[in-house]
Amino acid sequence: MHPDLLRLGFVVILSGAAGLLAGNFLTGLTLGFLVCLIWQYRRLKNISTFLRDDGEQKPPDTPGIVNEIVREIEFLRARHKQREDELTGILSRFEEAIVALPDAVIVMDAESHVEWANEKASEYLGIRSPRDRGHRLSHIFRQPELLDFLAQEDKDNPQKSLLIASPVNADISLEIRITRYAGSSLLLVAGNVTDIQRANRMRKDFIANASHELRTPLTVISGYLEAIDNETDELSTGWQARIKQMRSQARRMQNLIEDLLKLSRLESKPSADLDNEVDITELISVIHDEAQTLSAAQIHTFNLEIQAGLVVKGDQDSLYSAFSNIVFNAVQYSPSGGVIGIKWYRTGTGACLEVTDTGEGIPAEHIQRVTERFYRVDKARSREKGGTGLGLAIVKHVMVQHEAELKISSEPGRGTTVTCHLPAHRVVAAE
Ligand code: ADP
Repeated sequence: MHPDLLRLGFVVILSGAAGLLAGNFLTGLTLGFLVCLIWQYRRLKNISTFLRDDGEQKPPDTPGIVNEIVREIEFLRARHKQREDELTGILSRFEEAIVALPDAVIVMDAESHVEWANEKASEYLGIRSPRDRGHRLSHIFRQPELLDFLAQEDKDNPQKSLLIASPVNADISLEIRITRYAGSSLLLVAGNVTDIQRANRMRKDFIANASHELRTPLTVISGYLEAIDNETDELSTGWQARIKQMRSQARRMQNLIEDLLKLSRLESKPSADLDNEVDITELISVIHDEAQTLSAAQIHTFNLEIQAGLVVKGDQDSLYSAFSNIVFNAVQYSPSGGVIGIKWYRTGTGACLEVTDTGEGIPAEHIQRVTERFYRVDKARSREKGGTGLGLAIVKHVMVQHEAELKISSEPGRGTTVTCHLPAHRVVAAE
C-alpha cells in the first residue's frame, strides 16, 4: 500500500482509538487530522524552501507522494544542470575558438552596434570588447572607404569585401567582409592579408619592371631588323626568310611585352579611376575603325547595332582594352568573308556589349579556361596570328574591376559570342 494511505490509516486508527478512550471519538479524529495537516504543511514548506534555495537544504526523506515529487524535481534539476554545463562548455569552447582565430571578429546587432569582439579586433581595428560594447561601428571608424563599405548593406549590388590598411597600423593590410546572420545580426570579419598583398605587389612590380627593361632593347633590335628587311635585295633568299622570321618573332615579343605592361597597369589602377563617364558609342566607333584595318584583305562584314546615349561609369582605357580585344579576336579567329556583329544595348539589369562572329569557335572544354593568362586553344595558330594568350585575361580583369559579367558561348565551326554585362549602377544615361 502507498505510504501516504498507510500513514493516514494509522492516524485515523490512533486518533480514533485515543478519542474513544477519552470519551469523544470525533474530537480525537479531528485532532488527529489536524496534527496530520500541520505535519503536511511543514513538509510542503520545507519543499518550498528547498526549491527556493536552489536545493541547498534537502527536505526530510519521508516516503510518500511529496517525496516522489521532490525526487522528480531533483532529477529534472540535475538534468537541466547537466545540459547547462554542456552548453556553457560548448559556448566557452566556441568563444575560445573565435578568440584564437587569426582574423578579427566583431559581432554586431542589426544597427551595427558592437556586441562582442575578439582580441584580434583590437589589434587590427582598435575595437575592444567590452569597452566599445553598444557603440555604433560607423561612429568609431574614420576612413571614408570603410564607412562607405559599412553603409552599403542595403544597396542592390553591395561590394563583397574591402581591402584596406588597418586603422591602427598602416603596415597591416586587411580584407574586411560583413555577413548577416540569425536574421538581422551582423558579423564583421577582417583577415590579415599583408603577406599576400606584399607578394602580389612584388609580382606586379617584377612583371612591370622586367617588361620595361625588355622593351627598350627589343625596340632597338626590331628597328635594326626592319632596316635590314628594307634592304633585303643584297641578301640571299635564305637570309631574307630568316630576317622575316626574326622580325615576326620580335613583333610577337613586343606584343607580349605590351600586353604584360597593359595588364600590370590595369592591376595597379586606383579604384577612383573607375568612376569616369565613358561614352561607349564613341569607343565602339574607334574600335570598329581599327577592326576594319585589322580585317584588311580578309573583308569581314561588320553589323553594328548601337543604342545611342548609353554612357557608363568606368575607366576608358581599361574598357577600350577589353572591348577591343574581344572585337579583334572576332576578326582574327574568323575566316575571310566572316560576319562580325557588335551590339551595345540597355538591359533590364544594366547594359550589354555583345560581339558575335562566324569563326572557327571554341570547343566547349576550353571555354572555361580561355580567360586564364597564356591559355590558348591552339598555341601554334595563336602565335601565327600574333596572339599573346593575354587578351581574354585582360578582358576578364577589366570586367571584374567594373563588376561586370563576362560570358563566352561558342559552337565550334559556327562561331563565338562574347557578352560583357555591366551592372545597372554603372549605367549613367540611356535614351
Ligand atoms: P590570343 O592572344 O591567343 O588571341 P586571347 O586571350 O585573346 O589570346 O584568347 C585566348 C584563346 O581563346 C585564343 O588563343 C583562341 O584560341 C581563343 N579565342 C578567343 N576569342 C576567340 C574567338 N572569337 N573565336 C575563336 N577562338 C577564340
